[in-house]
Amino acid sequence: MGKIHVLDEQLANQIAAGEVVERPSSVVKELVENAVDAGSSTIDIVIEEGGLTLIRVTDNGSGIDGDDIEMAFFRHATSKISSGKDLFRIASLGFRGEALPSIAAVARVTCISSPETSGLGRKLVIEGGAIRVNEETSAPQGTDIAVRELFYNTPARLKYMKTIQTEIGHIADYVNRLALAHPGIAITLKHNGGLLLRTLGSGDRLQTFAAIYGTTSAKTMLPVEGEVPDYDLRGYISKPEQTRANRNGITLVVNGRYIRSFVINQAIMQAYHTLLPINRFPMVVLEIGMHPSLLDVNVHPSKMEVRFSKEVELREFIEKSISDALGKQRHIPGPASSE
Ligand code: ADP
Ligand code: MG
Repeated sequence: MGKIHVLDEQLANQIAAGEVVERPSSVVKELVENAVDAGSSTIDIVIEEGGLTLIRVTDNGSGIDGDDIEMAFFRHATSKISSGKDLFRIASLGFRGEALPSIAAVARVTCISSPETSGLGRKLVIEGGAIRVNEETSAPQGTDIAVRELFYNTPARLKYMKTIQTEIGHIADYVNRLALAHPGIAITLKHNGGLLLRTLGSGDRLQTFAAIYGTTSAKTMLPVEGEVPDYDLRGYISKPEQTRANRNGITLVVNGRYIRSFVINQAIMQAYHTLLPINRFPMVVLEIGMHPSLLDVNVHPSKMEVRFSKEVELREFIEKSISDALGKQRHIPGPASSE
């Protein structure tokens, strides 16, 4: 007799969770991205104790059909893609169908959702992957997911968690960047009862920037925009005098997704070139748009790393757009160079 067998669903989910759910901020990321994909105009995030006791995300999006609510927690179950072709034209933030089952494998989850305005919806309670409750309940349109006692059944992972301050730091960092990516969504973030972020959802990215970095910083930012056949770009960049000691002030958004990119960072730094003092970095918020086929987001479960198929062209386009924006305001000659 052979010795190879397929792992049961529960165990497979727990293994996937190791990759998808690294820490509380990963849960926040997955839930908030689902809320964005659902077309929400408001997203409220409530965190207790750095996310280790509670992460709750409430949205007013399209909701989950009562008949689908268990399916949403199945591995590789998604409403977002259906064929191999879809992989090369991904327009949503999610598509892997891994987040909800992974989260539910390592926490106690309550999901209340309704796709209608009838006031009725479905409530699902799932703990360590086991469904405890699936019943009708009163619910507004949208989805409300509460994740309690994250890692309660994976003690090794729990032990690895840093301080509450560190975890909420990661969460706030992610939410801030998502808010910059989606200025049209009104977002609130609360931690242990205190308000950490409130954006108005007016669509004004500079207003969102001000909510995060303060109005003083926002006032000095320069607008940047550009367009070539393959790409378009808009956003704000800081004047060379307004620098920071690290790259954390750079937020890159590609097709609505907050990403990290060495290539784009390089293009930005190249555009500032000698205008920046050594080891100083600008503040930048860039929203870059391109056809989904020019972008591979299926590189890592977190989808934070992406690959561009025309990397050189993209780099040149970004460098030029930023140089132009800087050039436009360089009417007062500054100090020649710091290098
Ligand atoms: P993915 O986002 O990759 O599809 P998830 O496990 O994150 O996978 O979610 C599974 C499915 O559950 C989604 O495809 C979607 O249909 C549904 N879903 C999850 N969260 C929400 C939400 N906030 N609003 C509406 N539908 C949701
Ligand atoms: Mg998802």
